[in-house]
Parts: sequence; C-alpha cells; structure tokens
Amino acid sequence: MRALVAGNWKMNGLAASLAELGALKQALAKTPAACDVLVCPPATLIAQAALLLEEGHVKDAFALGGQDCHAQPSGAFTGDLSAEMLKDAGASYVIVGHSERRQYHGESDGDVAAKARAAWRAGLRAIICLGETDAQRDDGAHHHICSSQLEGSVPEGATPENTVIAYEPVWAIGTGKTPTGEDIAAMHAHIRGCLVRRLGEGARGIAILYGGSVKPDNAREILNLPEVGGALVGGASLKSADFLNVIGAVNPS
Ligand code: PEP
Repeated sequence: MRALVAGNWKMNGLAASLAELGALKQALAKTPAACDVLVCPPATLIAQAALLLEEGHVKDAFALGGQDCHAQPSGAFTGDLSAEMLKDAGASYVIVGHSERRQYHGESDGDVAAKARAAWRAGLRAIICLGETDAQRDDGAHHHICSSQLEGSVPEGATPENTVIAYEPVWAIGTGKTPTGEDIAAMHAHIRGCLVRRLGEGARGIAILYGGSVKPDNAREILNLPEVGGALVGGASLKSADFLNVIGAVNPS
C-alpha cells in the first residue's frame, strides 16, 4: 500500500500562499515522492491551486482536498460547501470529522458519517478523523473512544478506494506533543481490528494515517511504525520546505 502524506492548512493561506504550492509542485516534479501527496488548502484556494497544477503538465505532483463539506449536495445552507462543489473546484479528497470541527462546530459521529457519504456521492475520497482527548487518554479510555467514534463515523460501504482513516489524538494537534511510537502502533492495530470486524477483510487495505505534531524531525520514526499508512500534517505543511522533509521521510517501498 502506497503511503499518503496529507497537509491540512486549516484556516491559513491567502493567494500569496500559492507560491508554496508552486514550490512543492516543482520539487515533486523534479524528485517524485515515494508516497501520494495531498494538500488541503482553504477552499478559497482550491480552484487556483488546481489551475497551478495544470501548468507545466505536472498535474499529478499532488492531489487537492477540502477540509470539510456539508452532507447535502446543494440548498439553503449559507456559508457551507458541498462535496460536489469541492470536486468541481478540483478536489479529489475531503477531510471530515476533524477534531476542530467536532469541537468548535459540535459535529457528532452521525454528522461525520453523513459527510463521508456525501464525499463518496461526489466521487471524493473521505479522510475520516478520530482521536481521544488528553482526559480520555488519562482515564485509559482512548481505545474505547476511538472504536466508538469509528463505529459512528465510518459508514458501511467504506473501502480502501473511498476512505482513509486519520487517527489524531486531540492533545497532540498543534501542541508539539506526540504519543510514543508504541502507543501509536497500539492504537493503529486497534483501529485496524475494529475496521476489519466492522467491514470485513477488505478493510485491511484502508489506510490509517497518524496526525498530531508530525514534523520533519519525527516523521521518519512515525511513518515507519506498523499500520501507519501515512500522516495528516497541520503546521508543518504550510511551508513547502518543511512539508517536503516530511514527504521525504517516507521510505521507497
Ligand atoms: C491537524 O490539524 O490535522 C494536525 C495534525 O495539526 P498539527 O500537525 O499542526 O498538529
């Protein structure tokens, strides 16, 4: 399975930031990555980024994704974007259920599942995020929390083609803290077991990314852990030089 390194720019990036994507494109055209690469800029930049990728015939240097979508294809939902709109703008992925959406927008597991189905309907691959808070880990409830989020957020019909899971402990996002390698490997094995029990043997091919303070200096160790199929990267994806160092940490298979 080819690894996926995905950048989540969150609410960062103006038109001037397209220069970072230009630099990323050029570097990957010169030295192709040993993994699939995805950038999820703010939705305002997706169409421009797609045009930038078309210049110079290196369209496949990296893919583009949205950071959220509405469950409905269109309608009276002021300020929202549908999966179809993201696809139309040039996205092939969308992140759903990021902990910042769950926390600041009150999204439930059911909302996340509906968004994942919307992504599939539009022909996008859904990156479904889950992860425990620090209090839940301190209580020893982290495995239970993640299986319950998985149960509620990953719809029946998830396949390696339409779905990626991102395990992102909430306490590791943007904090510089990461779980130990042993803890990451244990959680990824747990998530794999839940996926297979729920969806059958075909779920062995669903990539499970790790996310939470992945940086150039810890990427190699994390990306080499068993069942880690790649990384979801926030802060270190904003500068092409940092992001390229994370991408470069993936071993050619
Ligand atoms: C994220 O937002 O998904 C994330 C992992 O952020 P960071 O890498 O900055 O911790």
